[in-house]
Amino acid sequence: MKRAERSQGGVFGGRLERLCVDRGLRMTGQRRVVARVLSEARDHPDVEEVHRRAAAINRRISIATVYRTLRLFEEAGIIARLEFGEGRARYERKSDEHHDHLIDTSTGQVIEFHDSALEALQERIAARLGFRLVGHRLELFGEPLDRTEPPPAKRERR
Ligand SMILES: [Zn+2]
Repeated sequence: MKRAERSQGGVFGGRLERLCVDRGLRMTGQRRVVARVLSEARDHPDVEEVHRRAAAINRRISIATVYRTLRLFEEAGIIARLEFGEGRARYERKSDEHHDHLIDTSTGQVIEFHDSALEALQERIAARLGFRLVGHRLELFGEPLDRTEPPPAKRERR
């Protein structure tokens, strides 16, 4: 299991830093800070939010450095760049288990989910089209059921 690996997550750059080293990236102090921020993130921060958290650890870190580092990590395949239709990129470390995202359009909150039936369906669609599926990207956009207006049928009743 991954437990032994996870118990070392408290080291400075976290799990991401070890991945960076594995991929031959030279780890400067500032890159370590960005790696740590992303290792600890349980959400999907944008560049400015990563910078805010990084600056709380090291005040000298600039947004340009954060930006460059994120791009470097993305190119090395250790973080994922996401687009949730807001015109700004969000980032997350690549997890071992695949997941998709549902975005609450009323609050912007991002909910992660995994559905094996959906995964299988996508593989079948790809196969039907003559492909072996190697990846996909899926974002669902929704508003909470209890906050939406009553269905039309109900409203028409007077
Ligand atoms: Zn996610």
